[in-house]
Amino acid sequence: MEIEDVTFAERYGLYGCIQCGKCTGGCAVSLKTDLNSRRLVREALLSDNKEVLKDLEYIWDCTTCATCTLRCPKGIEPSEVIIGMRTLLIEEMDLPSTIQEALESTYKDGNPWGRARSKRSEWAGDLTVKNVSKGDEAELLYYVGCTPAYDPRIQSVAKSLVKIFDAAGVDFGTLGNKESCCGNEIRRMGEVGLFEMMVEDNIPLFEKYNVKKMVTSSPHCLNTFKNEYEGATFEVQHYTQLLAELIESGKLKLTKELDKTITYQDPCFLGKQNKIFDEPRMILESIPGATFIDFDRARERSLCCEGGGGRMWAEGTGEGERNAETRAHEANEMGADIIAVACPFCLLTLEDAVKLAGYEDTIQVRDISEIIAELI
Ligand code: SF4
Ligand code: SF4
Repeated sequence: MEIEDVTFAERYGLYGCIQCGKCTGGCAVSLKTDLNSRRLVREALLSDNKEVLKDLEYIWDCTTCATCTLRCPKGIEPSEVIIGMRTLLIEEMDLPSTIQEALESTYKDGNPWGRARSKRSEWAGDLTVKNVSKGDEAELLYYVGCTPAYDPRIQSVAKSLVKIFDAAGVDFGTLGNKESCCGNEIRRMGEVGLFEMMVEDNIPLFEKYNVKKMVTSSPHCLNTFKNEYEGATFEVQHYTQLLAELIESGKLKLTKELDKTITYQDPCFLGKQNKIFDEPRMILESIPGATFIDFDRARERSLCCEGGGGRMWAEGTGEGERNAETRAHEANEMGADIIAVACPFCLLTLEDAVKLAGYEDTIQVRDISEIIAELI
């Protein structure tokens, strides 16, 4: 395979691969589907044409959790190799129709959910939220994100954060309908050209409204703003980082008790990929009356919920139990009352899994923001 004047193998440094299989060994998806990063790397090395791209249906099973990349002893990034292969498939127009629809919606309306740009700020309802794109001034930009803005279940995350920020005296505003998708999932679906266009649109937008500090609902938005927006000058935090600071400084006080046992699902884009492990736990451990217990597979070893990397828009070829369902069983065995999450995709996948596994009467799946908003 050739890309511009370098081969695919050269571009991704694949000649360093020793075929040790650590990447596949750490991949929770490869247990259930034909996705095998070690084999993909070898085939990309051996192939000098697009042969390797044939019958790659399972390439859309990857959640881009990056476990393979973090485990590779030779510094190869199999998750990036997979994104590169998706890019080649998109160039051939060989992609699932649901991914194509998400990409078209993002291009047209700035979100992958097929919703109108003009409805982006409707989530706020009758809440009073400053809009910096309409001349309001605020120290902090709250970047809501597509899923909290449009998904009826996840809108409660955005509303909860508004309640918390107000209670803690945070001077914040949003971009209202001017906010547009961050592109994290778009890049991971392989549409690198569209992603670059979004960066070129978003950076001047943030500069125009003088954004110096930003907080995101989603670890996916945090990840791309922090690591992939070249030339961006603003600081960005995930909301759990800000909440931990507010609790520590005494600006946010939890006045009510919660007599529940709580566990926590590390989002891959917050934990594994950005090493934010302690802040969510600090928030949960500070809840009066609650008991916090970790999953056995936690932090770097956490089990991906399978919601990332475009998987919210692709069915996947795997059979058998989804990882999120495995998590629901683990939580049940631990005696957890609540699985706390800090990511819109974890919230959607785990809540579905808890229902599917028949635990909806005993286990709640709640975003940390929702839990905290009820305790102030
Ligand atoms: S972990 Fe790295 S070196 Fe080992 S097979 Fe995977 S890509 Fe190759
Ligand atoms: S990114 Fe995650 S799901 Fe994708 S191949 Fe690597 S370990 Fe597997």
